[in-house]
Amino acid sequence: MNILVANLGSTSLKFRLFRFDGAGAAALLAKGGYERVTDYGKAIDDCLAELKTAGHVRSAADLHGVGFKTVLGKNLTGCVRADTDGRVIAALDGFKEIAPAHNPPYALGIARFHEKLPGVPLVALFETAFYQWVPEAASRYAVPQAWHDAGVRRYGFHGASHKFVAERSAELLGRDDIAERVRALYQSGPTPVQAGVKPLRVISCHLGGSSSVTGIRDGVAIGTSMGLSPQSGLPQNNRVGDLDSAAVPFVMKTLNLSLAEVERQMTKESGLLGLSGVGNDLRDVRAAAQQGNARAQLALDVFVQSTRHWIGAFLLELGGCDALVFTAGIGENNPDLRAAICADLSELGFVIDAAKNAALRGAEGEISAAGSCVKIFVVPTNEELVIARETLRCIAGRN
Ligand code: ADP
Repeated sequence: MNILVANLGSTSLKFRLFRFDGAGAAALLAKGGYERVTDYGKAIDDCLAELKTAGHVRSAADLHGVGFKTVLGKNLTGCVRADTDGRVIAALDGFKEIAPAHNPPYALGIARFHEKLPGVPLVALFETAFYQWVPEAASRYAVPQAWHDAGVRRYGFHGASHKFVAERSAELLGRDDIAERVRALYQSGPTPVQAGVKPLRVISCHLGGSSSVTGIRDGVAIGTSMGLSPQSGLPQNNRVGDLDSAAVPFVMKTLNLSLAEVERQMTKESGLLGLSGVGNDLRDVRAAAQQGNARAQLALDVFVQSTRHWIGAFLLELGGCDALVFTAGIGENNPDLRAAICADLSELGFVIDAAKNAALRGAEGEISAAGSCVKIFVVPTNEELVIARETLRCIAGRN
């Protein structure tokens, strides 16, 4: 079974093609992408032509499904067929104001794939899917009821990545019962846990171009740092992260900015870029800080402080922590940032092994010291594999 995963950005199309054998094991057959996309129809044609030339997909009959990492849908989440009715496109359209960089490209891309590959099942896996079972008290904002009814609540994002971490960390800790619970989550919901078995409490830090921290109990999310939109939580590359809502009317009045301009600055000129004045890539910010740029150092300090803030929140909410996991571009590749995030937490049970941490970049491994009560891991994320697996399950009718 060949499953294509399409990752659509506001100006890009990235793809990966997986082949699953009868036992469900996946092999990555091809990956690629196009930047500065203005015509999704052409980009999709190019992608399919590339797969044809490589001999992987000679016709639509060689493709058994396409999975999409859709972000946020109005009144719709989970893993949903996108080719059988208009539900997915309508849900993306319904929240295009909240996720303007993500929802319109997916709506367009899904429609184009449907047009070009009639009969091939299309599946949307929403990034919010992992948070379907978060307790209501952790997803409500203290807003008037009408705002809540209109959809203003915490949704959470990076669901595919945190789900991957939930499953993989359970495997690393020898908890196959929990790994299996995670695998079944989108089909069965949270299955009962065995009575009397110690709960598995994981804090997952997805630190990358955009970042979030999620608390996970027995494989199921109990809360996350991102809220209504992917602009929230930790400072993002060039997006603002958490901000007091009073700041918006204040800068509109005192700096004489329009709402559109405030939105632009919050989504394009804030985050690590806004703080540092250097750039939105952590490598550049770090290099500037090492050369003595005080604003760049402050940007790193704010990022570390915010990550610790959310780890602390979930440590309390989970009543402890068995594993702390770092993933995504920053989490996988920056030992000094991981060390700063875990500094001086030995009384709470987090002790990093400096040598193991320094040596580990872009690969899986444990970085906690022998005596650390909490296991600290680096787990390279694989969102596309999660999407491909769920797509396969969905089209196999087990959804
Ligand atoms: P996204 O998929 O959200 O664009 P990534 O998970 O690829 O983001 O993370 C991008 C961030 O990761 C950038 O800020 C970059 O600095 C950092 N990063 C990626 N690779 C490396 C690396 N090899 N060394 C240091 N930092 C890295």
